[in-house]
Amino acid sequence: MTDAIIGLPMLSFLLIPTVSSYSTSLNLLFFYLTWSTLVLSHPPLKVEIIASLAVRLLFYVFPSLFFLAFDAFVPSAAENLKALGDSALPLKKNASKKRTIALLRMVGWSIFNTLLGLTIQASVELVFTRVLLWRSALRVTTTLPLPWGIIKDLAKGYLLRELIAYTLHRYILHNWNHTVSLSRNHRDWYHAIEAPFPLSATYDHPLAYLVRSFLPMYLPALILRFHLLTYIFYLTLTSLEETFAYSGYSTMPTNFILGGMARRTDNHVLCDGEGNFGPWGLCDWLMGTSVGADVVDDVVAEADKHDVSGKVERAKGRVRRGVSREANGAKGAVTRRTRRRADD
Ligand SMILES: [Zn+2]
Repeated sequence: MTDAIIGLPMLSFLLIPTVSSYSTSLNLLFFYLTWSTLVLSHPPLKVEIIASLAVRLLFYVFPSLFFLAFDAFVPSAAENLKALGDSALPLKKNASKKRTIALLRMVGWSIFNTLLGLTIQASVELVFTRVLLWRSALRVTTTLPLPWGIIKDLAKGYLLRELIAYTLHRYILHNWNHTVSLSRNHRDWYHAIEAPFPLSATYDHPLAYLVRSFLPMYLPALILRFHLLTYIFYLTLTSLEETFAYSGYSTMPTNFILGGMARRTDNHVLCDGEGNFGPWGLCDWLMGTSVGADVVDDVVAEADKHDVSGKVERAKGRVRRGVSREANGAKGAVTRRTRRRADD
């Protein structure tokens, strides 16, 4: 129990303001009591939707809007931070009124799509519990998930997400004959932008958005029946990932994972959807559809940065020297012994 609570300080930060006064030093028992009170005193659907909405707003919509405002109002400073320079600026300097309105419309659709995803999540819960009279789609219980359980669920969830996202994006949204009208929508909406900009993670035709981003994120949670707290954590990480991967900035909190993802997201738009279909690039690497640096290049670059191969070589050298010294020592002993014997 103790471990479970220590593993969730951020979640408690998110959930506690919804029920009681904010406390900076969170005590473990208090968290458990708060969580049980929250679940016992409010309908589970309300807890799930308010928590999901809070996460989407705090970790995706607000930071993305902040980045977008920075790009729009301080373009000369933003330009230097963008990997693609001024071509990644959603509003060029002295943008026309028409362009500004077009951008505002895109922002509107992005926020609409984010809310659409939450509405679908709420509808699924309603259908499960009220119409089909099944148990809820996500686990909302007073018990807390253990850290190991959370890690296992997250690992399985992200692998499944990568697989679903890759398959749907490549085979449905990039069906090049455009026989599927969804693929035409994806081309005319998302692929009409010059480069990804903050908030473009959810910018697409609403149906294409559901297929490209919402379903790959939500289906794993549904299939694995995540505990609500695990889901909130998963949604937080995914929201942060979307905020940074679509920001277009060349500097990220962690260049290792996020930096690579951001460049692959840029490349998917720049090459008109020739490759880079999955969010993490794992399936693209396996299927040979990576454009630009793939996920393995990122790992190698990170290893070079930390000089992993140098460290391994040095360690090997030390072992080799140790072995030869021992061998020399043994040889020396033999010679000495022989000499001593000759003296006798
Ligand atoms: Zn695409």
